[in-house]
Formats: sequence, structure tokens, C-alpha cells
Amino acid sequence: MAAKKLVARPRSRSGRIAIVGRPNVGKSTLINALLGEPIAITSRHPQTTRDQILGVITEGDTQLVFVDTPGVHKAKTKLGARMNDLARDAARDADAVLFLVEVGPTTRTAMGADDLAILASIPERIPTLLVLNKVDRIKQKAKLFPILEGHAKARDFRAVIPVSALNANGTHRIIAELHEIVPEGPKMFDDDALSDKPVRFFVAEFVREQILRKTFQEVPHGVAVVVERFDETQEIPRIDLAIHVDRDSHKRILIGAKGSMLKEIGTEARAKVEQMIGKHVHLQLWVRVTPGWYENEAALREMGYGNSSSSGTKDGR
Ligand code: GDP
Ligand code: MG
Repeated sequence: MAAKKLVARPRSRSGRIAIVGRPNVGKSTLINALLGEPIAITSRHPQTTRDQILGVITEGDTQLVFVDTPGVHKAKTKLGARMNDLARDAARDADAVLFLVEVGPTTRTAMGADDLAILASIPERIPTLLVLNKVDRIKQKAKLFPILEGHAKARDFRAVIPVSALNANGTHRIIAELHEIVPEGPKMFDDDALSDKPVRFFVAEFVREQILRKTFQEVPHGVAVVVERFDETQEIPRIDLAIHVDRDSHKRILIGAKGSMLKEIGTEARAKVEQMIGKHVHLQLWVRVTPGWYENEAALREMGYGNSSSSGTKDGR
């Protein structure tokens, strides 16, 4: 009797990876570099990420699910407090954490107090990679080693990885380390999934990104962007978005002279949407004055900034 040959089926691995770090250290830039697609929004201003954004990388039998956490900061408003809760929850549920710290332009070697405070909120039991970002700002490479060594002392990290998220330098090492860490288990998403967020979530994010880039200083408390209509029955899909601002003066800034500002915002956001979905869309923006939207629990929920798994839009698809 011929012996049956047993072929071991490779078992799949999958894990959730939280990206944690101070505002502005480059979390969104890093996730974009890891995914190779503009999923997380980036800007020069802190706290542009208001929602958990999942990006997914599937290579062979291993699936890495990234969670882009909102910046941990001193909460001044209800919205700020909720962002902090989301960041902490994301770290606690994760199979691994990418703890991101920026280096340069100075060559200080020890980890700063703000970074240490955030690190303290990551449980010791979760495998944590220390990612030192923006190494492109350290011109003399000899200066980098003492910085790596100094920062590595803060905790028993699984690895310390210098990267430049902006240039997508060093990101392959992050992926390789994560492949070693994530546990065996079923994949959570289809192999071709990039994100579990619906298209309309990104449309709202792209609009918000342009607003932040163009008007951040002038529109205190920022804005909430809500997709009010997403009509795909027509040849060219039509998307209506409402931009909620705190007061009339902010509305005037957003609209600009003869509507020039709003037009610019719409044009740039539309380009990104079209790039993402690969077809033309009509994008219509409306500015609405909703005083105190960022302080009002009911209004926040209505706009999709509720607790847990809500998306950034009113009625996620
Ligand atoms: P987040 O708040 O942590 O998500 O930070 P962002 O990803 O929005 O990045 C904040 C700023 O840092 C942006 O202006 C980025 O272009 C910049 N940045 C991100 N990564 C790098 C990097 O590797 N090198 C340099 N020089 N700048 C970077
Ligand atoms: Mg961000």
C-alpha cells in the first residue's frame, strides 16, 4: 500500500497593527508609504486624522491590517477626547504596535517626554516596533547611531527601525518584522482589499484634507464633512457633501472671493477621488453653519463621529 504523502498546507497569519505616535510625526505618511496608495490623509498640521482608518496588506499567507490612530494630545473638546480614546483602544486591541517618533532637525539622542508619555499608554505585553521617522532630516549619518541607541533605551522594543516615510525608505523592514510577529489565524479581509472603509468615507476625508491644507489657521475648530448624497445611477456619479463650520465668518472664508476657495477645494478633492475610483465624478460642496458642532454629542453622532466603529460619514455604504 502506497503511503499517502501529507503536504502541509501553509497556515495563514493575520494581525492588527496600530500606528501610534504624537501628532505630526508622520503616521499617515507612513501608512501611505506602506500601502503604496494615498489612503490616510496627510497635512502639515496636527490632528488631521479623526477616524480609525484601516489599510490592509496581504502578502502570500500573511495579512497585516493597519489602524491609523488619531494623534494623542491634550483634549480640549469632546471631539478631542474621543480621538484620544480611539487611539488608546486601537493600541490595546492590537497584535503589534508601530510606535512612531520623529528625529531631527536636532540630534538629541534621548526620547522626548511627550513621546515617553504616549509610550507609557502602550501595554508592555504588545510587541512594539520603535520606528524613528524623518531620518532624511539627519544629514550626517554618523549622528544617527547615537540617536537610535538613545531612543532604544526607552523600552525593550522588538526592533528599532529608522525610516523616511516621506521617501518610503526603510518601510520594507517594518513589513518583514511584522510578518514575524502576527499570529496564526484566518485572514480578516479579501486578498485584494486595501481598506475596509467605503468610498464615501474617503471622499469626505479628501475634502477635509484640502480644507485643512488651505484654511487651517483661519477656521478654528476645523470642519466636519458629511456626504449627503452619493448617486451612482448616472453615467458620472454625483456626490454632494456638506461642510459644517462653527460660524458665519468661517463659512465666508471657506467660500472665498466669488466662491474661489470652495472651487479650489472641490477641484483638488475631486482629482483624488477620481484617481482612487478610476472614473469621473461630479462633486458638489455646500457649506453649512452648525454652531458648536464639535462640542455637541448628538451632532457628532449624526455626522458619524460616534463611538466605536462608525465611519466618518453619516450613512456608510
Ligand atoms: P501624522 O499627524 O502623524 O499623521 O503626520 P503626517 O503623516 O500628517 O505628517 C506630518 C508632516 O510630516 C507632513 O508635513 C509630512 O510631509 C511630514 N513627514 C512625514 N514623514 C516624513 C519624513 O520621513 N521626512 C520628512 N522630512 N517629513 C516627513
Ligand atoms: Mg495623521
